[in-house]
Amino acid sequence: MIIFGHRAYTFGAGRGGEFHCPQCNTQRPYKLKKLQRFFHLYFIPIIPLTELQRWVECRLCKSKYRTEVLKLKAEQEARQKLLDDGYRAVLAHFGKMSGRSDEAFVERLERCFTDLTGRLLTPEQLRKDLAGGPGDISYTASELRGFLTEQGREIAVRGAVIAATADGTLTDAKKAAVADFARILGMSDAHLLGVMASAAPGALPGSAPAQALPAPRSLN
Ligand SMILES: [Zn+2]
Repeated sequence: MIIFGHRAYTFGAGRGGEFHCPQCNTQRPYKLKKLQRFFHLYFIPIIPLTELQRWVECRLCKSKYRTEVLKLKAEQEARQKLLDDGYRAVLAHFGKMSGRSDEAFVERLERCFTDLTGRLLTPEQLRKDLAGGPGDISYTASELRGFLTEQGREIAVRGAVIAATADGTLTDAKKAAVADFARILGMSDAHLLGVMASAAPGALPGSAPAQALPAPRSLN
């Protein structure tokens, strides 16, 4: 008697690699596997037929995922890059308004960057940004708006105020520029006034000039 028919077999499907395993919550090696129907003869798969399913399996915890999991980390990294690049552009844009590039100023901008992104930036990167040409800050702000929480918006605007007023002045032009930025981010005017008052107290009318950051030169 000849035994033949259709049957589904599990196979490795490709080389695999590394991915961010949601279960292990870290980078892990994975196997790509597939379930495919075969025409078999005496239970030996002979002719490949329809592929039924394909999945990713963590080599450590053995959790199985849809193949979309491979894109998760890449998407996360892309968003992270958008945030980093966007906020660097913001700090440079407003930093130029204070006309400073000294060490204390650059260190302050580094802290602003870390406050928002949780990541580090070198003084060289910031100096390069400060020396760069003008960017489209409205466009950058509209991109950032998509993934900043209310708290994130506040941190972002505070950094902009600190960068713009490090020379000890908060001119009408600077106020207008920060206000535009804050509105595009979706911050209310009342909230913005609060942030401005707390971030640049030295530059507000009636306050003493800022002492923490000496201004080597002023653009005004
Ligand atoms: Zn795992």
